[in-house]
Order: sequence, then C-alpha cells, then structure tokens
Amino acid sequence: MSHDTGLLFRYLDQTRELYGNNLFIDGKTEMNPVQDVDSLGSFRESICKCKKCPLSNTRTNFVFGVGNPHADIVFVGEAPGEKEDLIGEPFVGRAGKLLDKILEAIDLTREDIYICNVLKCRPPRNRDPLPDEVSLCEPYLKTQLSMINPKLIVALGRVSACTILKTKEPLKNLRNRIFQYEGIDLLVTYHPAALLRNPNFKKPAWEDFQLIRDEYLIQN
Ligand code: URA
Repeated sequence: MSHDTGLLFRYLDQTRELYGNNLFIDGKTEMNPVQDVDSLGSFRESICKCKKCPLSNTRTNFVFGVGNPHADIVFVGEAPGEKEDLIGEPFVGRAGKLLDKILEAIDLTREDIYICNVLKCRPPRNRDPLPDEVSLCEPYLKTQLSMINPKLIVALGRVSACTILKTKEPLKNLRNRIFQYEGIDLLVTYHPAALLRNPNFKKPAWEDFQLIRDEYLIQN
C-alpha cells in the first residue's frame, strides 16, 4: 500500500463521515467510493500502522478483523484482549473458542462470518474503551462494515452494543430488538466471556443465536 493510497482512504473516510456512502462525481455519476476503490485487505494495509491514539504505543498488534469479506453476518466485539493483541486476530482466547462452538451450533464457521472489534488495539489491562478512543477508531469499523455490507451486525456484549448504539441501557433492554447501524440491521447479545463467567446467560444467548439463524440464515 503506497502512502498515496493510505491518504486516499483517509480522505474517503472523512468524506463518508460527512456525506454518507454516496460519492457524487458530477450530476450523473454516482458510486460507492470504498467498494469501488479497493479491497478490505488494502484498507487494512492503509490503517494498520495507525497512531491516532495512545493505544498504538502499548499494542503488540493492530487487530483489524478476520473472516469472509462477503459475509452476511458480522460479529463486533469490544476490543482485543491479551491473546488477540499477541496474535493479531479477534476472539482467539477462551471466549473465542466458546463463540466458535455457538457458531457451530447454528451451522456456521469462522469462514462464513466476519468478526472484528470496535477498537482495533488492546486497552491496557483490558479496561473499557475510552470515548476518545472510540471516536477515533469507530470510523474504521464503519468503513469495514460498508465494504462488507452484511445483512446483520451482531454486537457482542454491553460495551460493544452501548458504544455502537451510543446508549447506556443495560444489555437486557437491548436484546430482542432490531436496531439500525449505518443502515444495517443490528442485534445485541451477550459477550461470550460473560457466558463463561455466568452460565445462567447461556439459555438467553442461545435464544438470540436461534433468532439469528431463523431470521438471517434460513432462506424462506
Ligand atoms: N473480547 C472482545 O471483545 N474482543 C476480542 O477480540 C476478544 C475478547
């Protein structure tokens, strides 16, 4: 990725923030700037050396996201943990293993879906993301989502959900509702780490995943 291409992505990102997905070149021509310019991999290359916030000083790896760039479903966690920071991939620790099992139960694998986080760098000692970190990093998430253009976004856990939806509601009020994020359906469910801590959440979480399967995977 050349320096110029990196600059172009930043420019498109800012334009998108201001004007949305449509780039009007003249009175007749309309195109989606991100999809038409380059791939998700090139976007990753253009941002992976990001130094916009102090988390860049403490990270081992920038954790962009993995999975199918044409996925119908994108899972969004909060931020990389220790293992994710070391390996450079989201959800590779215990919580990730549990997520894999839940996905398998609805006939999905990591190759079918895309998975990423709101923050691309690990906050020290896994503390919650700070508002400044979110406002600097969220445009990357928005660009990722506009490039993948899934049918559904699943926010994993209260921090991810509240950060994305700009709310302070408890998670139980956010489940079983279809929100819109950047024009895409969004559902909220438990973070797999919460299921490891509290097995009582497993039943309602399974209900959420059944809803995901029935509404977004089974073709009627
Ligand atoms: N928790 C998250 O929210 N994201 C990860 O990638 C790992 C753990």
